Amino acid sequence: MTARILLLGGVTEALAIARRLGPKHVYSLAGIGRVPQDLQCQVRVGGFGGAEGLARYLREAGISLLIDATHPYAAQISRNAASAARMAGIPCWALRRPAWQAQAGDDWREVEDWAGLIEALKPFRRPLFTLGREPLQHLDEIPAEQFWTLRALEACPGNARCEVIGARGPFHIEDERALFQRRKIDVLISKNSGSVATEPKLEVARELGVPVLILKRPVLPEVDRVFESLRDLTAALDLQ
Ligand code: NAP
Repeated sequence: MTARILLLGGVTEALAIARRLGPKHVYSLAGIGRVPQDLQCQVRVGGFGGAEGLARYLREAGISLLIDATHPYAAQISRNAASAARMAGIPCWALRRPAWQAQAGDDWREVEDWAGLIEALKPFRRPLFTLGREPLQHLDEIPAEQFWTLRALEACPGNARCEVIGARGPFHIEDERALFQRRKIDVLISKNSGSVATEPKLEVARELGVPVLILKRPVLPEVDRVFESLRDLTAALDLQ
């Protein structure tokens, strides 16, 4: 392949593509999670300074194809990618996982935003948050009758009404079931990431009749090509 690729990553599938890119290509990470040290391609860590900064980088580095393989809720970088590629006159491709779909036995309730989530949480006592770090900003707002369990990549201090657990997927159904039962979880809060690695919590919620509050997916920009699976993207890149 002759194109020079900038691959925007941050999820498992992106790393799988990065592992197959040669030294002329660049894998870009925001700098929040782990930075792999064993790739053949170049690794760049940290933001570009908005869409303009990214467009400048694309031109200066001679990038000819931008691939957005970021998380479906990382809407800002996806918007920046689409407009930067337009500014630089190169194609933008995106890997977008299909959303999970509710099945028989599921009690899923979609919420728009944090305010909607707090309202929907009112009938519950022992929520399990799996939204990453965002709920940490709201620890002082926990109602007296609730105890929150918050799962994020890294453990950190909670408070008298919240415990923060550090854990990284993939998660297994037995461990998820034990977590729900040990902590008497009565509601699960999740994004709709569509990832196989984090799906077992939904199976356990279904099994135990626990409702799930799902944070609505953000609207993502139009790009030149959208791939729903790693296999399709890999085939289009001729990396097989
Ligand atoms: P975001 O709100 O869409 O992006 C915020 C800013 O972070 C961007 O404007 C950009 O800074 C920088 N950035 C994001 N991804 C980048 C990348 N791959 N390479 C270089 N800079 C990047 O993103 P977020 O929701 O905070 O997520 C940050 C990263 O974590 C993403 O790469 C995403 O794939 C990953 N992640 C997110 C979630 C989630 O639930 N949101 C879950 C798992 C993993 P500049 O404007 O300065 O360029």
